[in-house]
Amino acid sequence: TDLHWTSAFEIVERLRQAGHEAVIVGGAVRDRLMGQPAHDVDVATAALPEEVKAIFPKTADVGIAHGTVMVLDPSPPVEVTTYRTEGTYTDHRRPDTVEYVTSLKEDLRRRDFTMNAIAIRGDGSLFDPFGGEEDIRRGIIRAVGDPGERFEEDALRMLRAVRFAAKTAFTVEPGTKTAITAHAASISHVSVERIKIEMDKIWLSGRSGLAARLMQETGLAGQLPMMGKAFAPGNAVIWDRLGKPDEPAEGWALLELLGGEPDGNPYKLSNKEKRAVREILTACRIRSERQLSPMDAYRLPEYALLAGARFAYLTDMTEEPDDPAAVARMKNELPIRSLRDLAVTGNDLIGWYGRKGGPWVKEWLANIEEAVVTGRLMNTREDIKGWFLDGIESER
Ligand code: ATP
Ligand code: MG
Repeated sequence: TDLHWTSAFEIVERLRQAGHEAVIVGGAVRDRLMGQPAHDVDVATAALPEEVKAIFPKTADVGIAHGTVMVLDPSPPVEVTTYRTEGTYTDHRRPDTVEYVTSLKEDLRRRDFTMNAIAIRGDGSLFDPFGGEEDIRRGIIRAVGDPGERFEEDALRMLRAVRFAAKTAFTVEPGTKTAITAHAASISHVSVERIKIEMDKIWLSGRSGLAARLMQETGLAGQLPMMGKAFAPGNAVIWDRLGKPDEPAEGWALLELLGGEPDGNPYKLSNKEKRAVREILTACRIRSERQLSPMDAYRLPEYALLAGARFAYLTDMTEEPDDPAAVARMKNELPIRSLRDLAVTGNDLIGWYGRKGGPWVKEWLANIEEAVVTGRLMNTREDIKGWFLDGIESER
């Protein structure tokens, strides 16, 4: 936001007054040149972390091991990172060493793409030794330096290229794309946690179809669980129709629907995301077989009902997606929202029946719940008591 920029420029100015070179770098600069708002604005400086901490009394050591100090005042907080280069990479994902340097150009050289290797000085002028501004103007994603070497160092950069392509609709420069194709197999060295972060951003970009095609063409998809199958050329139009989902869980649900493997989803989703995926796929399976029933509307959250119906349509299992207003109405017309809305409790059942509690209580609450939801039973104590006692007596 503008506040982040104000905070970052103030930090750059105070570092300058203390005699240290400092600039604004990274994604925020790229987003600004593209006329887009930035969520966080990063500062890079020749000052060492200890010197940064001496100038700003309020800091947090968020990434001190690789030279990053979070300055908390001025607020909003800004990450300040000492200019550094990275040593050799032996595992395709982490530099073996990081080394502080005094040259900004050296710091920019370690960055992944020219669009991410531009600095803004305190006076607003650009320092752009790799032609990032020109590449942004022309809509090109280009590796800094030799693309093959850069992808050998850190294979995640290949997926970042896809992510930036999806975000911006820019073209991956041919030499960079060729290098991705040549090094695609290295992506298997990258942790699923880092892959998940990029995929979440791809789903939210609104251009999952573009990403699916690019990953298929370069061979990245074939190296990643579920993606080879889910991103098969015939599926690209389905990914196009995903559009911009509200939550990454929708992307993961579609990935499982199109590329599901028996051993489940290895991408370490949060429990909340796993649950959302399950609910969406349940709704999708139901809608591919029949219309929604009140019991479906009761059991599943509205977003899952809508996403599920949309997926059934996207994958040609239904004629049309459900009308959101109709789904909302179905939810609103339910006599109860949850077991808590029932006019009776388990203790009522125990008292009426005069037996000790046991598994039967839960079973009968579920029976009552279903009868109320489907409109066969009114949600009043008297109606429920009569229905319950009749039912449980006749069961014996
Ligand atoms: P976003 O808008 O999603 O935050 P970003 O470009 O800021 O995008 P970050 O992951 O926040 O991406 O990284 C900040 C900057 O650090 C990047 O702009 C880039 O200059 C550099 N960077 C990040 N990851 C890598 C990497 N794997 N290899 C090289 N440089 C990287
Ligand atoms: Mg960032």
